This record gives sequence, C-alpha cells and structure tokens, in this order.
Amino acid sequence: MTLEQLKKDVRNVPDFPKKGIQFKDITTIISNPEELRFMRDELADAYRDKGITKVVGIESRGFILAPAVAIELGAGFVPIRKHNKLPAETIEVSYDKEYGKDIIQIHKDALGPDDVVLIHDDILATGGSLLAAVELVKKLGVKKIYTNCIIELEGLNGKQFLAERGIQCDCLIGIEVDE
Ligand code: AMP
Repeated sequence: MTLEQLKKDVRNVPDFPKKGIQFKDITTIISNPEELRFMRDELADAYRDKGITKVVGIESRGFILAPAVAIELGAGFVPIRKHNKLPAETIEVSYDKEYGKDIIQIHKDALGPDDVVLIHDDILATGGSLLAAVELVKKLGVKKIYTNCIIELEGLNGKQFLAERGIQCDCLIGIEVDE
C-alpha cells in the first residue's frame, strides 16, 4: 500500500452537501481493509516515541481512525463532541463556521497536566475546527498537543493558518480542493 494509492481511492463527490462543494469521501478508503490498516499505521508512526497518552477525535469523522491510532500507541481515546452530546460536566469553545457559529465540547475530567495529546480529524480544510479543538484541549492544561489528519485540502491554506498560530498539522496526503 502507498500514499499515492490512498490518494487515488478517495472518492470525490461533486455538489455535496450543496452545489459547488467537492466532497472528499473517505468511506471508499476505510472500507478497504489494507487501506484502513495502512492509515492507522501511518497516522501512528510519527508519534511512537512521543509518549502520547490520549488521542482526541473530533466528531464525527475524526472518530473513525482516532481510536485505532490510540490502541496502536497504547493511549486512550477522548471524544470532542458537538454541543450538548456529552453527558458529564464539559468545557466548550465556540468558533465561526461558514454559516454561523459552532460549539464543541469535551469532558472536563477527560485530560489533565500529565497528558500528551494527539488531536485527530479526517480532513484539514480551512483549519477552523482543528484550531478550536486545540484551544479546547489547551484549557485542560495538558503537557503537549500534536495534531494530524488523513487529508489536507490544498488551496485553502489550512496548514498555514494553523502554523501562524503555532500549530503544526501532519497530513498523510494532500488533495486539491477542486480536484
Ligand atoms: P475546517 O474547519 O474548514 O478545517 O473543516 C474541517 C472539517 O470539515 C473536517 O471535519 C472535514 O470532515 C470537513 N470538511 C471540510 N471540507 C470538506 C470537504 N470538501 N470534503 C469532506 N469534508 C470536508
């Protein structure tokens, strides 16, 4: 398996969920057992010596690979969820989306000062979601935060947007946003 093959197998769905959006559909790569295992290993490899204690997944497609990567790293899994989904005491951040605001939450007791965290999402687009997730995790006073994604949508400058805010995001493959 190669990253080139993975890139070829991501399905582009034009005009979903609305006209003009080129939706990058990862269901075609997660349904392939070799590609699923390959992604888990590639997403974990760079962090094997980093002492990761928790992998944080961003709802909802961040939940697909994050637990597999966590098991691979001997870490736990922690979900970041949309507003009012988590049952116990939470902290939250709100951030601007294309239309209106979004709120994401995490359990207050999910992370602490001894944690080294890897935040994972499926796709980096503008970087807004990942920045909000980093801000949320920072509030819990963790030791160190890393971030990664499967796909970077090139042409939206998400990597640069995050870098300007001191965040490095490692992505397995880059796909042109309009490709
Ligand atoms: P952003 O906050 O702009 O970086 O957007 C990232 C989130 O939106 C990720 O959780 C992606 O799953 C989703 N997303 C954004 N653009 C696309 C796209 N073209 N295809 C599929 N998912 C997308």
